[in-house]
Amino acid sequence: MPPKSAFVVMVMEAQAVINKIKYSKLLRMFVFCILVLTGNSTAQDSERPPFKHYFVQGNVHMFEPANTNGNPGALVGDDGILLIDSHFDFSVEDLLASLREVSDQEINFVVNTHVHPDHMGGNNKLAAYGVTILAHDTVRLQMLEEIRIPRRGGTFIPAPPAEARPVITYSDAISFHLNEEEVRVFLAPPAHTGGDSFVYFKGSDVLHLGDVFRTNMYPIIDKYNGGSFHGMIEAMGLAIGMSGPNTKVIPGHGAGPSDRAGMIVYQDLLFTMRDRVKELKEEGMSAEQIVAAKPMADYDDRYGGVPSWTADDVIPIIYEELQEQ
Ligand SMILES: [Zn+2]
Repeated sequence: MPPKSAFVVMVMEAQAVINKIKYSKLLRMFVFCILVLTGNSTAQDSERPPFKHYFVQGNVHMFEPANTNGNPGALVGDDGILLIDSHFDFSVEDLLASLREVSDQEINFVVNTHVHPDHMGGNNKLAAYGVTILAHDTVRLQMLEEIRIPRRGGTFIPAPPAEARPVITYSDAISFHLNEEEVRVFLAPPAHTGGDSFVYFKGSDVLHLGDVFRTNMYPIIDKYNGGSFHGMIEAMGLAIGMSGPNTKVIPGHGAGPSDRAGMIVYQDLLFTMRDRVKELKEEGMSAEQIVAAKPMADYDDRYGGVPSWTADDVIPIIYEELQEQ
């Protein structure tokens, strides 16, 4: 065989790389097909599918789990899928099955809005399927150790495996340019945790606010991971300020997409909680006395239905933050 020129060798090497990529794409498609088949059989077994799908607006979709835990969002189009939050490890197949009903494109990226397991628990599996994981710097650091989460007085979950960690992190913001639109992911003020990201799909005019915004219960402030009640008021102000009358908003938890008016309702709840606790504190009551006085009783029907996190859990946090001011 005659010696190959450097150019021919270069072309051959490039071809080998392209073949490798093609092979891994084929492999991923195969894995997805298997997942869709398994996911569908689960969906058929229950009355309501494990994830309810909503077309939000533009290129953005929302997937609401039957158990109200963490609402993933997705930007879909010919360039591939950008997924927001990976939900629990055990839900990944169901989530992918719902996603496959909307698009058969590859999932290229997943962004974790924060460190809680119903938002990043599926990272491990998605990484194995070749999805690139992104999150704020803080989320990666939080994932290096055992994680404490707030409900029921603080429960511990083991540090996620190395494969579940974000491979790309950002300190302030990062932008995606795909499916003919710009998606801006940026750090919110410390609110639900100290590493909350907001996602704004510019072309579609849709926000995903992670758990800073929830429509089904009182705000959860995760003090173990840097959350702040006053920061939550600030973060909601930021989101309301950047939204218009047609903006749609995916809440971290709650039924279906919301909008600017829905965010204002939630921000009013935050103001009401702060003002009522402040007033009683100024009358000289302790945090325990304020909890016992049930100052949010008239809101409990609307927001107090989840026993693992009620107004009784939020009031001492507000009290403590007022004390620090
Ligand atoms: Zn959360």
